[in-house]
Amino acid sequence: MKQFRNTVIRAGLGALYFSGAHYLLRPILSGVGAVFMLHHVRRAKPADFQPNHHLEVTPAFLRATLAHLKSRDIDIVTMDEMHQRLLNRQFARRFACFTFDDGYRDNRDHALPVMREFAAPFTCYVTSDFAEGAGRLWWTALEMVIARAGTIEVTIGGSPVRMATLTAAAKQAAFDRLHDWLRGLSEHDLQREVGALCARHGVDQAAICRDLCMSWDELKSFADDPLVTIGGHTISHCNLAHQSEETAREELTVSRARIEEKLQRPVFHLAYPYGDRFAAGAREFALARTAGYKTAVTTRPGMMFPETAGHLTALPRVSLNGNYQDTRILPVLTSGAATAMWNGFRRVDAA
Ligand SMILES: [Zn+2]
Repeated sequence: MKQFRNTVIRAGLGALYFSGAHYLLRPILSGVGAVFMLHHVRRAKPADFQPNHHLEVTPAFLRATLAHLKSRDIDIVTMDEMHQRLLNRQFARRFACFTFDDGYRDNRDHALPVMREFAAPFTCYVTSDFAEGAGRLWWTALEMVIARAGTIEVTIGGSPVRMATLTAAAKQAAFDRLHDWLRGLSEHDLQREVGALCARHGVDQAAICRDLCMSWDELKSFADDPLVTIGGHTISHCNLAHQSEETAREELTVSRARIEEKLQRPVFHLAYPYGDRFAAGAREFALARTAGYKTAVTTRPGMMFPETAGHLTALPRVSLNGNYQDTRILPVLTSGAATAMWNGFRRVDAA
């Protein structure tokens, strides 16, 4: 089993599909439901350098996913309904939730029409600074800097680093290195470094935000759609685990109050920015509970099980990853085999 698992992890989802192993694993792994995680939904771009490509799927792939779930007789439900089913232990039917992080305009323009075809509800987690037009989507800014730069110069750990970024491969390598470095910095240092790169290479972070994210006005009519639930995604999209407890609490409560005031509807659901174990752990799970969120989703991979009801602010998700937009992997994702591999076969991963 161990060797098989390592092989699968090495070879990825394709191997899991072609081995047929997901059919064997399904009875123990499938769980009662899943929360799918998406970001952008938009048409594919032809560019060679797309380091954030994992954060986008095409409308066609979203449609194929919904059709697959429908063919498997899986209910697509709101986060409120999932919350109720977990609390009331209603597991007669399998369910799936669709969640979209950050508040991108393409969720309205490309995801909503597809969701409507299936009368499928979904939750959109809004970062309040992004809706103000003042947010910093530094991962996209970094992509734009490297896309236009022939050379990148930064100081990492006190040492000057110079990277040639002329080819797509060199740009990808530079992005990976800088992304890893930036993720480890404090929020303040991260924004200072990205701000300096943007200034040097003529990238306007506010323009990126306004270009990609829905404004409050747009969100207001979007939220009026009966299929749409609006959730919170902090004020500034910071790594909560890097903040003082007071700041983290404020990020959770002030963003929520701002959304409620602007959209005139209650907010019960949260997604942690970045959402991995370096950005959301036991302290953040407790803070979300205290702040009054009914559910909070991470980016830890996994399916829902009956015991998930005891960890409603530490919910795992299944990523619809833009790098794996092959309909043959859909049975693998919904079997839970892939996420179980990634999380080491833990049914609950909430520590
Ligand atoms: Zn996010």
